[in-house]
Amino acid sequence: MTAAAQLKTPAEAQDRARRVLVAEDNTVTNDLLRLLLSERGHQVDIVEDGEEALAALKKHHYDVVLMDFHLPKMDGAEVANLYRSRQGNEPSPRIIAITSDMKGLLNNARDCETFDELLPKPLNLDSICKVIEGEATEISVSPSAPVANGLRTPANAPATTPSTSIISSLGYNFLHWPDDFDGTRLSARGLQASLGDDHFDAVLVCEPPAEGDLVAIWRSKSLHVLPVIDLTGTLGERADLDASQPGNATAQTVEQLITGYQGRRARLHPDLLFSDDIEDKLLARMFASGRDLEPRHDAGQLSLFAYNTVIGNNEVREAAERLEQRGLLAGKFFDRAHVCDRCSSSRFNVRETCAHCRSADLGEEAYLHHFKCAHQGPESDYRQGDDLVCPKCRLELSHFSVDYDKPGSILKCNGCGKAEFDAVVGFRCLDCEAEFTGDTVRTIDIESYHLTDAGEAYATAGRAGLGTARQVLRFAEMPIGLVVALNTELKRFNENAKPFTLVEISYRNENQICQEAGARQFDEARKLFLENLRNGLRDKDQVFQGRAFDFAFLPGVESTEAYSALESVQAEASELLTHDLGIETRVYRAEEFK
Ligand SMILES: [Zn+2]
Ligand SMILES: [Zn+2]
Ligand SMILES: [Zn+2]
Repeated sequence: MTAAAQLKTPAEAQDRARRVLVAEDNTVTNDLLRLLLSERGHQVDIVEDGEEALAALKKHHYDVVLMDFHLPKMDGAEVANLYRSRQGNEPSPRIIAITSDMKGLLNNARDCETFDELLPKPLNLDSICKVIEGEATEISVSPSAPVANGLRTPANAPATTPSTSIISSLGYNFLHWPDDFDGTRLSARGLQASLGDDHFDAVLVCEPPAEGDLVAIWRSKSLHVLPVIDLTGTLGERADLDASQPGNATAQTVEQLITGYQGRRARLHPDLLFSDDIEDKLLARMFASGRDLEPRHDAGQLSLFAYNTVIGNNEVREAAERLEQRGLLAGKFFDRAHVCDRCSSSRFNVRETCAHCRSADLGEEAYLHHFKCAHQGPESDYRQGDDLVCPKCRLELSHFSVDYDKPGSILKCNGCGKAEFDAVVGFRCLDCEAEFTGDTVRTIDIESYHLTDAGEAYATAGRAGLGTARQVLRFAEMPIGLVVALNTELKRFNENAKPFTLVEISYRNENQICQEAGARQFDEARKLFLENLRNGLRDKDQVFQGRAFDFAFLPGVESTEAYSALESVQAEASELLTHDLGIETRVYRAEEFK
């Protein structure tokens, strides 16, 4: 069952709605929890340190508190203890500890008892929902590997087929189709995976999808780089693996598939992992799969061919063509196909038709050549009872090879009655009935594609790897404050691998805004955006205005986290601007400065 399904009726939704306090200093986690919980109808307040948490608890009545164990100013256990002691016998909310230091917490029995439940980080959103909505009956205490299915109740476990259970027993973390995909909405687990959570290993297709259904996988962020395992036997080459008939080797094949993807996915630059652009997605998919993009004839498709991926064929083909133009893919001819301009179908009835009326009702008959007047026409035009009379000169034709001969046959249209020597090839679209001739029907070349060296460079180094003029950041172009901050963090990174992320911000619409509204308008919008951005980020993050580019510097943050954090902050920061700046970001990881 998905989040959407669980909130089917207003009454049910109200039943489940909780007032939740989140006390957590990690803004990424906060954004994620706010998104997830409000999506499910809960009211969410967020505080970022222990003192604020205590103040909020005094002020409002909460049903549930999600408390980070390590909070600034006052730690989570301290807050909970203080609050509980003041509360006495008054009703108190359930207080749930969230921590990445589960061992540390478990070692301290007193702290443990303070909390009603313990949840490990990284957070398993499915468990969070169940705990908050009061469904959980057990406490998950495994710090490194949250058990995704551990808290599933039998009622909403995915339908189990023999192959599901064999594959599921391999210990990987699967997203199930359609359970975790419900039209445009993702389940909590799907949402978590789409934020780049690398605990998910593959998508299991458990029911035969209708045409185009699996596009949902591509519409969501970062799910397109997961392998697709088909348990239904209906996807053919479009899935990475057909596991509908599991055998002795299945476990090993699944393992190879998943570890292969994991290794390549880890090398994929976040620029591509989190991109919404179809070209980026296709390139990332090809890189992660380690396979070329291969077309095959497939009579079941409107396009009569299918690529080895679950997204729509024409969409893939067009994106691949553009990537080829950019030099990131190289194509090799596979076949040529006719395409209906009206509905994109390639399914045609192809036959000879009358050049005058397009009827396919053509008959063939001998034509006669009358020597005397040189008239040529179908035999039926001469026929008058048993006699043959020339329709032009009215003379009777008596002797074959003396008066006339039969040099060949001619087409006679039963639709318009006209006789003609040449018919026209007619294409009738089977899906929308549009008519084309050989001259007017569109053809496309279908190609197979592989990544070029430039494509590989783009996949692993992101936009910086595109080999454009500004391939490397120039320190000389950076604001001096940023150079200082970079040096400090770079030192920490080299000493104890403490990560950081530098985001370069550029404005695609700069020229357009300057031309239409003036440079001052642009400058004001840019300043306002940077100010909003600064307010949306954590205190220790820094925002710098440069000359051509601006920068956000996020110490202690991995680039994948930075992506999800920036996304929401950036959207909020540009919401109130009068101009669409066309903001583009390029993310640099600490590793790239080595
Ligand atoms: Zn004649
Ligand atoms: Zn005709
Ligand atoms: Zn058509």
